[in-house]
Amino acid sequence: MGKALIIGCGGVASVAIAKCCQNSEVFTEIMIASRTLSKCDALKEKLQPSTKTIIHTRQVDADKVPELVAIMEEFKPDVCLNLALPYQDLTIMDACLACGANYVDTANYEAEDTDDPAWRAIYEKRCKEKGFTAYFDYSWQWAYQDKFKNAGLTALLGTGFDPGVTSVFTAYALKHYFDEIHYIDILDCNGGDHGYPFATNFNPEINLREVSANGSYWEDGHWVETKPMEIKREYNFAGVGDKDMYLLHHEEIESLAKNIPGVKRIRFFMTFGQSYLMHMNCLQNVGMLGTTPVEFEGREIVPIKFLKALLPDPASLGPRTVGKTNIGCIFTGVKDGKERSIYIYNICDHQEAFKETGAQAVSYTTGVPAMIGTALVASGVWSGAGVYNVEEFDPDPYMDMLNQYGLPWVVDENPVLVD
Ligand code: NDP
Repeated sequence: MGKALIIGCGGVASVAIAKCCQNSEVFTEIMIASRTLSKCDALKEKLQPSTKTIIHTRQVDADKVPELVAIMEEFKPDVCLNLALPYQDLTIMDACLACGANYVDTANYEAEDTDDPAWRAIYEKRCKEKGFTAYFDYSWQWAYQDKFKNAGLTALLGTGFDPGVTSVFTAYALKHYFDEIHYIDILDCNGGDHGYPFATNFNPEINLREVSANGSYWEDGHWVETKPMEIKREYNFAGVGDKDMYLLHHEEIESLAKNIPGVKRIRFFMTFGQSYLMHMNCLQNVGMLGTTPVEFEGREIVPIKFLKALLPDPASLGPRTVGKTNIGCIFTGVKDGKERSIYIYNICDHQEAFKETGAQAVSYTTGVPAMIGTALVASGVWSGAGVYNVEEFDPDPYMDMLNQYGLPWVVDENPVLVD
């Protein structure tokens, strides 16, 4: 039915591409284009023998619009799935506009160079106006609304697990269980153990920046900001057990606050073990999470990039990670005048994910919904000219595909709430 260009060939992409190959009716042809061609070729070699989807590969620097345009002009994709890094969101959106391709991603735009004075001026104004200090926010991509509308193209933002599935769970809860949702708690639990004292489950640079930043939540129409890891709760997760979880800023809070009418509070919690937190605090204290280049023995290095080179590659964690993830949302609101709460979640097993795709559950839980969002756009089930977050579309076909493609979900109508 359609042609998809997939940018990036890391942990998440390897799962999304494997899943596209299981859905050859929609994905008749794909092109994998990333910085390191050998990774694209290796994945093609692994997947091509057992799929009808025709796979092509190319090398690309996705920071460069002309390189992207050249590939799109040659391949003529219906849709482009961006699974590189959030730094490349805007260049890939520009190339899609230039070539008439729909756009899909899993993470909102973040500037790579946060010391750039032009970027900083806009960032500081936004911090003051909106009240949260995360380096990433939706304003950059929402600003493309008119461009996509005028071009008659769809940009679908944030179709990973969180954001992505958590946002679709919200739309589903609103459609089938509530007249109005008042409280949303998004709980992201990773009960996996990889056996290393310290490693990150996805790109270390993105992961460590997110976790070491201030937390924040949405309440009564405004942001409340907290210090990193200031708010801690304990929760007993189905399939995992008791875990400590900490309140973080997270990007779907921003879009859900805009798109869910009547919502009073949205919080996001993620579980962390003591070993992870101890290492992260120590690395932060010694400056290893810094993004500003420092002079070392005659050359400049960026501390967090150097740290990335020392840490285990997230892709290498797959074979050694055991345990499960449990990610979902607890909703409280009203239906027919009565208050009710429900909890929708998915449990994913690291080893089962690895057996199927060669990647652990964190990549799996992101890669599957990346394929689903792209398939719904490519097949026209989700359509509309403009820039959309996933909760703005009908959740039902997405929820069906989660069951079909390996992320079955559960609705608990009597959940334990988070205080
Ligand atoms: P990885 O670092 O494993 O993969 C990123 C890939 O992008 C690599 O193949 C890398 O190339 C490639 N890449 C990086 N820069 C460029 C560039 N300039 N041009 C071309 N290719 C480039 O990251 P993940 O797979 O873990 O994450 C992918 C995305 O998914 C990220 O945006 C992340 O934020 C998002 N994510 C979203 C989640 C969600 O639930 N919504 C959860 C987890 C991740 P190379 O192989 O050469 O390094």
